[in-house]
This record gives sequence, C-alpha cells and structure tokens, in this order.
Amino acid sequence: MIRKTRLFTPGPTPLLPAAQFAMAAADIHHRTPEFRALFTRVLSQLKDFVGTKNDVIILSSSGTGAMEAAVSNLTSPGDRVLVLTAGKFGERWSALTKAFGCHVDVIEKPYGQTFDLAEVKAALKLETRAVFVQATESSTAVRHDVQAIAKLLRDEKSEALLVVDAITGLGTTHLDMDAWGVDVLIGGSQKAVMMPPGLSYIAISQRAWDRMESTYNPRYYFDLRKERKNAAKGESAYTPPVSLIAALGASLDYIAGQAEGNLAEGRKKLVDNAETCAAMTRAAVEAMGLKLFAPKGYEAAAATAILPPEGTDSGILVKGLKTKFAAIVTDGQGEMKGHLFRIAHIGFFDYLDTIAIIGALEQVIASAKLPLPNFEFGKGLIAAQKVFADRVK
Ligand SMILES: *Cc1c(COP(=O)(O)O)cnc(C)c1O
Repeated sequence: MIRKTRLFTPGPTPLLPAAQFAMAAADIHHRTPEFRALFTRVLSQLKDFVGTKNDVIILSSSGTGAMEAAVSNLTSPGDRVLVLTAGKFGERWSALTKAFGCHVDVIEKPYGQTFDLAEVKAALKLETRAVFVQATESSTAVRHDVQAIAKLLRDEKSEALLVVDAITGLGTTHLDMDAWGVDVLIGGSQKAVMMPPGLSYIAISQRAWDRMESTYNPRYYFDLRKERKNAAKGESAYTPPVSLIAALGASLDYIAGQAEGNLAEGRKKLVDNAETCAAMTRAAVEAMGLKLFAPKGYEAAAATAILPPEGTDSGILVKGLKTKFAAIVTDGQGEMKGHLFRIAHIGFFDYLDTIAIIGALEQVIASAKLPLPNFEFGKGLIAAQKVFADRVK
C-alpha cells in the first residue's frame, strides 16, 4: 500500500501548510519597513499566544538556545540555583547551569515522575537565585505543576526567578505566566506553533529584566537586553530567520482563526485539541492492554508515553509503525530507550490523525504478536471513539 510519511513526534511536529507558504513568500530584507511591520506584528501576536503582558524575545536558534540565553543572561558564576529534573530535558538545565559556573542544587526524580513540593521547599535556600524546570518533560510525557511551584516561591518570599522550559508546555497545557508569577517562559518553533525548527522565543518578566542589570555571565549573540532594544524598533540585533518569522505569523493567524481571530481563545482551543488527542490515545492504549508511563493526573497532553508489554523492546513498535505505515513515533530518550515509546499530540494533529495512529498501532501489535492476552482488533479504536464522542459535541 501507499505509505504517507507522517510525524507523530513531540518536535518536529507536522507543518501547517499556511506556514510553509508564508516561508516561501518571505523574500524581504530585514532592515526594511516591510520586515519591521512583520516583526512587530509577530512579536505582539506572540505575547497573546504566550498569554503575557511581558516582552517576548525571538531568537534564531532551536529551543536550547533560548534555554542557554536564560542561563547566561540571568546568572553569574557562583550563583546558587535549583534545578528540578525528572528526565532528559531537566538534565539539560543541570548541564547548562553548570556550564555557566552556577552552584547547582538538583532535585532529581526518576524518569516518569514529578516533584514533591515539600522537597522543593526544603531544597530552596535563602541564596537560591533561580529555579529551573520544565512545564512538560517531553522525554517522559509528564506534566510538572508549574503553578504550584510558582506559588511556593511566592509563599516563601523567595528571590529566586522561576525559569520554565515550556517548549512542549506552550499550546498543550494551561500556563498563566503573569498571574502565577513565572519569570521566564520558553517556547520553540518546531512544537505547538507547527513550523520548522530554528526559532525560539522567550517571555521575560520585569523582575528578570531587572536581574540582568547585575548578572555578568558571558553572553554575546544571545544578549537578551540587546535584542529587546532592537525589538522595540521592529528589528533584531543580527540577521533574523525572516522566513521562520513569516511562518510564525501565519501559524499564529491560524491559531487565532480557531476562535474568530482571538489568539488567547485560539490558544485555549489548541490546548483543548491536544488534550482530546491525548485522552483518546490514553484510552486506546489502555484498552489494548498497554500501560501509561506518566502518573495519573500528570500525563502531558503534548505526548503520551506508553510502556510496551514486559520483556518487549519498545523499538519493535517504533520500527513497525515506521516500516508498515511510515508513521514516525519516538522511542524513549536516554535511559528510557527501548522501555517506552511516545506518540505526540502537540500542534497540528486532529481526530483523523489520532484514529489513524491508533489503528496502525493495533496492526503493528497484531503482526508482532505482542504478549497482550486481551488484545483484539478494534478495542483501542472503540475506546478512542467513545472519548471523542464524550468530549467533542
Ligand atoms: C524540544 C524540546 C527542547 C528543545 O530542544 P531543541 O532541540 O533545542 O529545540 C527543550 N525542552 C523540551 C522540553 C523540549 O521538548
């Protein structure tokens, strides 16, 4: 049969056609009124998408560049910081803060878990200058409770800035940066905004801008204050990825279009969409006899992490979906390789995509003869159908 290649990965995610067309048409110079109008409009849309009144800065880099910018701009060598990690991306915060000479306290939970607030409270020192966490840990498909962590910092009257990698959290989970008191929120282009990799964005609170006046870790290309000055004039400090900025504008228009032009409402619809795809997938795989990796109530809507039957390498399912259906799902990362696989719901996924990947998974399970005693064709699909019918009227 024909096999159409389809991504079911939590970044890169499937591309929005309108974003691709916008890229193709974006041959404008970046020091012109045309570009300044585009950049200014996209920066303002981005604030509505993130859901903040704070300035949002666009950087030419994948998401990790914005993570690095947060560390290099907000810390000085020797600063005491607290990293909360329970997966591959949490480990990146540890590595980055160490690379910039911070004195790093780490709360490390096993992959697949989240943090105990009492432990966070105990680890928080008077001198802690910043706390780093993920909104959703993409490697395990677990959601961390950013709101509770933010509240804890405020209740403790902590001076620590809260820096959140929301690269797969934005557009898949409710985040209220300003009301919760989050200082930095980071996003990336190849995730919820349905466009190619290469652009990151970072929303920054006034407290965090103030902090930058006194920090002195080295920075040059990723100098956020310099970018802010330029952004106020509709420009970036260096040559920006013009085509990606045009794509972002088109994607944000599309998201706004889901709610009659209201981007904040469109964002809610996008979150709801991911939640529905995720709920369908969870119900389906459980009906097939597979187990979920995330603890109940903390499943990320960005992706679902699924455990294969005991003794089965998850790579069999990843490979089976690829060879039989050209459907790309991801295996576990790092120490989880072979132990789980992940199906994404972040960005441009719909009902048909979700039903299709569930049907394909049933085919692969059946032909691989996985040891699932109660498995039967259609059980997963029926469960997903019921979830959809309940949620979407
Ligand atoms: C994708 C992702 C990143 C960024 O990775 P890049 O490859 O640099 O774009 C960071 N954190 C999380 C949670 C992610 O999912």
